[in-house]
Amino acid sequence: MAKVTVLMPTYNVAPFVKEAIDSVLQQTYRDFELLVIDDCSTDNTIEIVHNFHDPRIRIVQNEKNVGLAENLNRGLALIDTEYVARMDGDDIAEPFWLEREIGILDTHPDIGICSAGFERFGTTATQVRFPERHEDCLSNMLFECSVIVPTFRMSLYRNHGLRYRTDAFPAEDYQFWAECLRVTKIYNLQETLFRYRMHPQQICSVHHEIQRRKVTEVQLYMLEWLSPDFSEEEKAYYTGAFMEPLITSLKDLSERQAFCKKMMAQNRSVGHFEEKALCRRLKKHLTITLYNTIVERYFSHGYSLPRYWRYLTSGIALRTGLRYESKLLLKSLMRRNIAVGEIWMLHRVVEQRSDNPAQRELEVTPDWIEQKIMEYRRDGYTFVSIDDIMSFPVSNSKSQRFVCITFDDGYHDNYTLAYPLLKRLGVPFTVYVTSGFINNQSPMWWYPDQSLGISTDELRQLDADPLCTIGAHTVTHPHLDNLNPEQQRQEISNSLHHLEQLLGHPIHHFSLPHGDYNTDTLTICQNIGIASVVTSWGGPLRRGVSYYPLPRVNMIQP
Ligand SMILES: [Zn+2]
Repeated sequence: MAKVTVLMPTYNVAPFVKEAIDSVLQQTYRDFELLVIDDCSTDNTIEIVHNFHDPRIRIVQNEKNVGLAENLNRGLALIDTEYVARMDGDDIAEPFWLEREIGILDTHPDIGICSAGFERFGTTATQVRFPERHEDCLSNMLFECSVIVPTFRMSLYRNHGLRYRTDAFPAEDYQFWAECLRVTKIYNLQETLFRYRMHPQQICSVHHEIQRRKVTEVQLYMLEWLSPDFSEEEKAYYTGAFMEPLITSLKDLSERQAFCKKMMAQNRSVGHFEEKALCRRLKKHLTITLYNTIVERYFSHGYSLPRYWRYLTSGIALRTGLRYESKLLLKSLMRRNIAVGEIWMLHRVVEQRSDNPAQRELEVTPDWIEQKIMEYRRDGYTFVSIDDIMSFPVSNSKSQRFVCITFDDGYHDNYTLAYPLLKRLGVPFTVYVTSGFINNQSPMWWYPDQSLGISTDELRQLDADPLCTIGAHTVTHPHLDNLNPEQQRQEISNSLHHLEQLLGHPIHHFSLPHGDYNTDTLTICQNIGIASVVTSWGGPLRRGVSYYPLPRVNMIQP
């Protein structure tokens, strides 16, 4: 019998699963079995898996789709090896993955889980490391999941009855490891042993909201372990205001500090968390939110001496350390990272924002937009059209700073609310229209039961005004990087042609749905002759770089 089973649940991962399985078969550690458990994929995932003829691969197919958490439990029930290594059908393991993690478990009987650093890839690559020691990792779990693609002892499953919880989806991993860490220790290797595929920021996704709620439930589970004595009010504060990434006032900062003290005191009476580790992690949380707030409030338009002075004379400077202050001073003296301009990404303009957080994130009020425009004008920014950007001297060191306003998807309210406002202020703007949403031919699935699409007539009126540029945004709003090149070409060029027919002139500009793309996407856009392509992230445009695609700043109203 093998020593370890690699447990790989799969569901519709046809484009990725071959690479994932290859990366397992190429492990330097040889004594394993690979259990692929397919949850009724509707693409050809299972055919691709069957094309492998390695005796170490065991394939199980569910009779009906049971969801990821239950699929993992079914997999665990089929395993009788000493260890389990967990990976997904769209991840890639480095060759030393099993060797390094099993090496730790073999030599440290007190450690039940060994996990490692990983690289996120997709549109951009970032290295991620979780705290190395168990005690630090445990404190980190109060904020985020710090275990990924680990190898762990099957005894956790057999002796402690730990299971993946279907009601925790899509945070079932976080919940599972939170429960495991109550009964065993973890060690996080500080090296990259995994490449983890990001299906990048799904801004138009309703899943987002469920994810956030489920993560909150695990954070609470961790807090309750720290102490069962927190009141309902304190728990709500912990998952709400305390977790907000930016500090709203000095009072807010003081409240956060007071709550950290309370957590430290509660822990002293229960003792589940190591005092030093908990203190370090809470300090880190305060520092990160404080620094983020300072950058956002004072330096979001670039570092300069006047901005440094404004920061220094604010009350908030008293709360930061001398080291951080001198760092900001140095940056301001060197005027590093000066942004030449920003392309704003907006979606809907509404008088009353929704309660649903995922929808709310896409909505801004006319007042807020007007206030932002005024603020930027005061700071010396010029508002330009997307055509102007193409001729704007981005590489010229004396270039004036600009903002270009864009709206994605093609909402009816871009005509009824955004247009009158921007017309009054004389501000140019671009609307990227998903051609399938025009006249509500197909619904926007992130706003179920609502008809929000722009009409042909409204579109023509916008197009007739020189202030407005119309761009394309595909036909059906897919994740382009999940499509093959021919499907991508059709999505892009059909949306262009549809708009060109409606408006009677060529369309030159394109926005990537969800901001997603791969190298094929950009080649196709260039071949079709699209002048500018925008993505959904990347922040401001900086000096001396040319862009294809152009980055944007996601304008979220607080
Ligand atoms: Zn969109």
